[in-house]
Amino acid sequence: MSDDARSETIVGIDLGTTNSLIAIMDGTQPTVLGGDGAIVPSVVRYDEDGSVVVGTDALERAPEFPKTTLSSIKRLMGRSINDARDELRYLSYDVVEGAHDTARVQLPSGTTLTAQEVSAAILRELKERGERELGTPITKAVVTVPAYFDDAQRHATRDAGRIAGLDIVRIVNEPTAAALAYGLGTTKPTEPRTIGVFDLGGGTFDISILRLIPSDSENPTDFFQVVATSGDTRLGGDDVDHMLMALFAREISERFEVNLDLDSGAVDPSTRRALSMFARGVKHALSSADHAPVRIDLGSGRVYERIVTRGEFESMIAPWVERALGSCARARRDAKKSLGTDGLDALVMVGGSTRIPLVRERAGAFFGVEPYTGLDPDKVVAMGAAVQASILSGETKGSLLVDVIPLSLGLETAGGAVAKLVMRNTSVPTRAIERFSTQVDGQVNVKLHVVQGEREMVEDCRSLGTFELRGIPPMPAGVPKLVVEFMVDANGVLDVSAVEERSGKRAQIQIVPNHGLTREEVDRLELESVEHAKDDMARHRIADLITNSSLDLKWISDRFAKHGDDLDGTTRAELESRIGALSDMVERAKSDWKSVDPNTFHSAKEALDQASIRLQEVSIAASLRNEVRETDR
Ligand code: ADP
Ligand code: MG
Repeated sequence: MSDDARSETIVGIDLGTTNSLIAIMDGTQPTVLGGDGAIVPSVVRYDEDGSVVVGTDALERAPEFPKTTLSSIKRLMGRSINDARDELRYLSYDVVEGAHDTARVQLPSGTTLTAQEVSAAILRELKERGERELGTPITKAVVTVPAYFDDAQRHATRDAGRIAGLDIVRIVNEPTAAALAYGLGTTKPTEPRTIGVFDLGGGTFDISILRLIPSDSENPTDFFQVVATSGDTRLGGDDVDHMLMALFAREISERFEVNLDLDSGAVDPSTRRALSMFARGVKHALSSADHAPVRIDLGSGRVYERIVTRGEFESMIAPWVERALGSCARARRDAKKSLGTDGLDALVMVGGSTRIPLVRERAGAFFGVEPYTGLDPDKVVAMGAAVQASILSGETKGSLLVDVIPLSLGLETAGGAVAKLVMRNTSVPTRAIERFSTQVDGQVNVKLHVVQGEREMVEDCRSLGTFELRGIPPMPAGVPKLVVEFMVDANGVLDVSAVEERSGKRAQIQIVPNHGLTREEVDRLELESVEHAKDDMARHRIADLITNSSLDLKWISDRFAKHGDDLDGTTRAELESRIGALSDMVERAKSDWKSVDPNTFHSAKEALDQASIRLQEVSIAASLRNEVRETDR
């Protein structure tokens, strides 16, 4: 491939609530970048020294830094502080009200961050990883969002891209991407097909029913129409982890007459974390085995030991699966209303939690089709984004698939009613105009209110923003000729303009969603990010390595001091030498960052991580023992 073609590579990104991934088209196959570390937890930690840690490191240390570790940031994207109220109690960090009603994260240092900036940190991490692997700069991406994301949420996603130095050339609905990954849009069916996409992730469940309409003499392109979506923003794999944790805690409490009450807040975060790791491990094991052994050594001869069978697990999670099917029933009803039939031609399984056999089985039975499970469920969406990216860049031949807008767009009219300009399910890009006039003699300003939604009254729709057309020359009512134009680009993002035709007066508007960033803010953040990108990459990496290694060293040395004696001699010696090597590296890097090679530094850190696995196990068991001893008293 020539350098030119290379530099045009457009990547596909799944920016998930729990996990994020980056993928490219490799020849004819979409592939996820990053090998074993492909799945990047969507978790960002902001340290006091200004460094930003993204992914597994941030996730694993979350209990130590609850106020500076930001997870589930996607839940705040494009939401106002009022929209976000319900989320707040689930988040460990503080959220405050920012300019134009935005919800902003507040760090203990007083710094506030927008959700766009935090998402940008995740995007930047993916971009940098991708660049390291491909050896070329990445500047363009296709990013996926849930089908129900409204205009403000899509705007916010696009802004996050700009802040990260990525031009988001297309925003694609997650279910559409999943269907694309399965080649459902590229094998050219001749008849329209109905496709269900069942996406059960870490914290959210989405069911979408799509209609794939192949191109014909009237439509030059194929398109995916989202016929119905439903779901539950509080249903996911995390619930299953909690059910298992509760089971273990209850049994430990009963068997050893201790009080391990997870709801009381009295349980130490590291114990909670240890239990949640056990729980998740057991859950994952039960997706492939028919039973999983659990063994927790609590010390003093007390060993909590039992076997969880698939059958027991399934009866425990059955009500949880049924909740997902409840949403499916709603989606199927809606689809039937618009299609007249509710049969599916295919059912695509997406999201890590669809690895659970009972989930696949019940979903398949519910829709009466054999689910598609050929692709890795946590990678399908990113792969589909890569397929779309390569179609856009012209690398993959085939018709361009277009999305449709999920919700109608309109203007407020007299009496709080809504005049719809663009109807839902219109394929994008599209434009529409509305002509009207003034209602009062001599009116010089007209206020326009843009809303999104299917309902007739403004109060039942979502407000996207307001603007004023000012300086209209005074004329009798009904004489001015006002024209408002809505333009929706291929991403489903709206721009609105207004003009008074007699005077040629234009409104100075740029529709900024009510709770989005202003154009200036995005410009400033983008500039900062470009400057940031100009920073020497190696220096940046070294700084991150110093921070992370120092934390590792502190954590490991503390535990080594406490539990070193419980390790065998070889493990101990290995650990000591790795601690020494990494400490040296940190000291050298601190005095002169140029004197260390980032790759050697990174390997030293990995080597210590590897050497400390046994120590971690010993210390987790000890911390559980402590907990039991304390609650024992
Ligand atoms: P999101 O789309 O919300 O970012 P993912 O699709 O990455 O999330 O799903 C993450 C969830 O999938 C987690 O709850 C994780 O425990 C679960 N998961 C991953 N692998 C398995 C497995 N083998 N068995 C059961 N659950 C799994
Ligand atoms: Mg997902």
